[in-house]
Amino acid sequence: MIIVAGPCAVESAVLTEESAQFLSSLGVQFLRGGAFKPRTRPDSFQGLGLEGWRILRRAADAHGMRVVSEVTDIRLMDAACNFVDVLQIGARNAQNYDLLRACNDTQKPILLKRGLAMTLDEWEGAAGYLQDCPRLWLCERGHRTYMPHVRFMLDVAAIGEMKRRGFTVIADPSHAAGERKFVLPLARAAIAARADGLIVEVHPCPERAMCDAAQQLAHPEFRELWAWLEG
Ligand code: PEP
Ligand code: MN
Repeated sequence: MIIVAGPCAVESAVLTEESAQFLSSLGVQFLRGGAFKPRTRPDSFQGLGLEGWRILRRAADAHGMRVVSEVTDIRLMDAACNFVDVLQIGARNAQNYDLLRACNDTQKPILLKRGLAMTLDEWEGAAGYLQDCPRLWLCERGHRTYMPHVRFMLDVAAIGEMKRRGFTVIADPSHAAGERKFVLPLARAAIAARADGLIVEVHPCPERAMCDAAQQLAHPEFRELWAWLEG
């Protein structure tokens, strides 16, 4: 099972170290954290940029973890190759074909999110740009819906269908609904649908998080998810 966990955004060296320490102690191998954040509003926290990647790399190395982080721009490819083990292509960039080509050219493992309103054929088409990457994980992260009680809606059928088409598919129960109370139920649904893994937002102090505070799990909540995965 592929488990990627960590904060939405890299906020500081101290918090990132705390995350890596906690997650690695459970056995989580992949540390996530955004340094270049695609935010809806320009006055929101945009991430620490290259310094964020340095912090993430240092924390991951100190605890024997691998780094998963979003790349938002083709100009970042050289730096991404230095600091990141698995290049994450975000939902908002899932059809940015220049970015897909540039990520493919690095020959690094890639995590490709599904776009906010992407059909499965469009998603498969985007994956077609990533033929040279040694490992490709598609990530179902929920799509736009008119339902007001969730931020996005996790498409469980898509997990099964993309696996049928031969892909490795993980699920993101954090962004899918946008609230921490939904994370465990959606993780269970994704695993029941035979997802190959999960990417989950976890923060040492979610209520103080600079980004996606409502959906990040506190450590005890992640521990509960982990225990269920192990059980
Ligand atoms: C993320 O995982 O940090 C993220 C921004 O997700 P998405 O691209 O799915 O919104
Ligand atoms: Mn987030």
